[in-house]
Amino acid sequence: MDQIDTLLQELEGAEEGSRDLGYAVSLATGWKHVESAFGPVLHLEKCSGQAKDCNCVWRNPTLSVDAALSLVPEGWSIAGLWEAVNPKDRPWWGVNLRRDDPYKVLTAQGSPAPALALCIAAIKARRGAA
Ligand SMILES: [Zn+2]
Repeated sequence: MDQIDTLLQELEGAEEGSRDLGYAVSLATGWKHVESAFGPVLHLEKCSGQAKDCNCVWRNPTLSVDAALSLVPEGWSIAGLWEAVNPKDRPWWGVNLRRDDPYKVLTAQGSPAPALALCIAAIKARRGAA
């Protein structure tokens, strides 16, 4: 089991998004830690971390649907995002990502929040695309 498998397990078991989980997802999807006067901050891997070059705006992908959507790799699109009622009477979100060439549909379901379902699906798609 590699680091991505471990991260996927953490996401699948999460009851809600969190700062730690958001950092872990970001570090696995093109972000890096850079030390600053205010402590470690996240920048995109391509950024120098210098203020004059930086346009990085980090948003927590486990809490923000917009931030989670930005993790969906090129060539993939959202084919469905739904909330279902489940027997445990808690929120239950699912997402389908679709790629046309070559055709593939990928599903993540059972998350208590849409951002978490999107993170799981996007990470799976990124791993498949690599
Ligand atoms: Zn930056």
